[in-house]
Amino acid sequence: MRDVSLWGALLGVKKTVIEAVEYDEDADLVVARVRPSSRARGRCGVCGRRSAGYDGGAGRRRWRALDLGTVKVVLEAEAPRVSCREHGVVVAAVPWARHDAGHTYAFDETVAWLATQASKSTVTQLMRVAWRTVGAIITRVWADVEAGTDRLEGLTRIGIDEGPQVPDRRGRP
Ligand SMILES: [Zn+2]
Repeated sequence: MRDVSLWGALLGVKKTVIEAVEYDEDADLVVARVRPSSRARGRCGVCGRRSAGYDGGAGRRRWRALDLGTVKVVLEAEAPRVSCREHGVVVAAVPWARHDAGHTYAFDETVAWLATQASKSTVTQLMRVAWRTVGAIITRVWADVEAGTDRLEGLTRIGIDEGPQVPDRRGRP
């Protein structure tokens, strides 16, 4: 781990400490062990407010990240729970993925954009995800756009109206 910032850039993560990156030859998978940076830790997964720790949750979990070349990549981290004054006991926020999402922001945004540009079979084969996953990703990216937290600048301008399960402007699927 000589060049931490290089790995951060390759994995498309911010506010994230990269502890180790390993290649699992049997699974043909790069596993990056990460944790939120100190300022990003201990925050409610719903509202992002700093909250008291509650417990270790369900242990370590994985998030799919963008491939490195042809090799699949996952981030692996603890997923502790915090006690938010407003939202109660919830899994803590992570800086690399949306709450309850199994894919990183970078992965989500790539899929959502690609779905506006390419055919169904291109998206599912290139990104190696099921079509229903594409729908779930578009739904959560769109929810952020609607909420005004537009991490995918230009998505509104492009207009995702041909993808799967795309909610309209009133949020209907
Ligand atoms: Zn909260």
